[in-house]
Amino acid sequence: MAFRDVITIPNPVLRKKAHVVTDFGPALQTLIDDMIDTMRAEPGVGLAAPQIGASQRVIVVEYPVDEEDEDAEAKLYAVVNPEIVRASTEQEEGPEGCLSVPNLRGTVERSIELTIKGKSRRGQPIKFKLKGWTARIFQHEMDHLDGILFIDRASEVWEYKDEQTPAV
Ligand code: ZN
Repeated sequence: MAFRDVITIPNPVLRKKAHVVTDFGPALQTLIDDMIDTMRAEPGVGLAAPQIGASQRVIVVEYPVDEEDEDAEAKLYAVVNPEIVRASTEQEEGPEGCLSVPNLRGTVERSIELTIKGKSRRGQPIKFKLKGWTARIFQHEMDHLDGILFIDRASEVWEYKDEQTPAV
């Protein structure tokens, strides 16, 4: 297990467009393991590689799939070079926070359903559908890969006070 420091604004790495991953060797495996450990330790429900200073297109997400059952086991995603194949035109507003933007929360409009494609950590092509909170987290994390933060998209930003809003 290895934890890495999460960088925060105004670190310029957070504003860069991250590089496409082409090497699926040991360095990537270590990066992904460290991202998972760091996400769980913070705790967060998602993390993008630029948040630990690695400007590469890698995200990890862990959030319960069944939104009706809060005790449901969280599904862990690790996606390399993720792309949105389809995003629902139907959107909804929801609260977001970010480990890289301390002490702020905001209201952001996101698509409620997504189809994502990318590579697994071993370089295999993957494609899957998401909805609800998990879709929101993916949109937030994928924004990080393009140097975009939730405060850029938020219709409203406020000082942190809601302990229930997960940070990603
Ligand atoms: Zn974030």
